[in-house]
Amino acid sequence: MSKEGLVIVYTGNGKGKTTAALGLAMRAIGYEHKVCMLQFIKGSWHYGEMDSSKKLEPNFELIAIGKGFVGILDDTSTREEHEKYAEEALRICREKIFSEKYNVIILDEINYAINLGLIDVHEIIKIIQEKPSNLDLVLTGRDAKEEIIELADLVTEMKEIKHPFKSGIKAKKGIDF
Ligand code: ATP
Ligand code: MG
Repeated sequence: MSKEGLVIVYTGNGKGKTTAALGLAMRAIGYEHKVCMLQFIKGSWHYGEMDSSKKLEPNFELIAIGKGFVGILDDTSTREEHEKYAEEALRICREKIFSEKYNVIILDEINYAINLGLIDVHEIIKIIQEKPSNLDLVLTGRDAKEEIIELADLVTEMKEIKHPFKSGIKAKKGIDF
């Protein structure tokens, strides 16, 4: 049996979910495949990939959607604002997925948005079931929902063995952001 497009999940409490998705994008772009990464929640932070993606245009499109981390650090948004942005994020997500313009679409940190109750898991299940059959869809974030794991073809759990954060080492430019 061959299946054209895969549903890939990177989850778990260890570091490497977003970077694994970026590595996959890098590989696909080598074949001139079109990749779109939609970063949920991370709206207000800066990550290196926001700039490196520009160097890979037009094959790589990276869009930060959502409105910063909910309830931590620099979050000054109300729940209503987060919900409004999440709804918009979902709309963009559907638009990109059903545009049939991409080979790979990455929904980065979607699990986080689901677990916060900002995105309804049923909406994502529907998207997975209805997506173009040749599209590879990647979903990242801790605590992937069981329903999503069941639908996926490939699920990798990043397991923390060690993380420098635990020894008081702060997030490092080029490694963590
Ligand atoms: P990365 O973006 O580095 O691949 P990730 O996508 O697996 O990490 P997230 O849950 O998205 O992890 O968290 C992003 C940030 O949190 C990164 O700066 C990452 O280094 C840090 N982080 C990830 N896992 C851990 C951990 N187990 N302990 C502390 N910090 C972590
Ligand atoms: Mg991540």
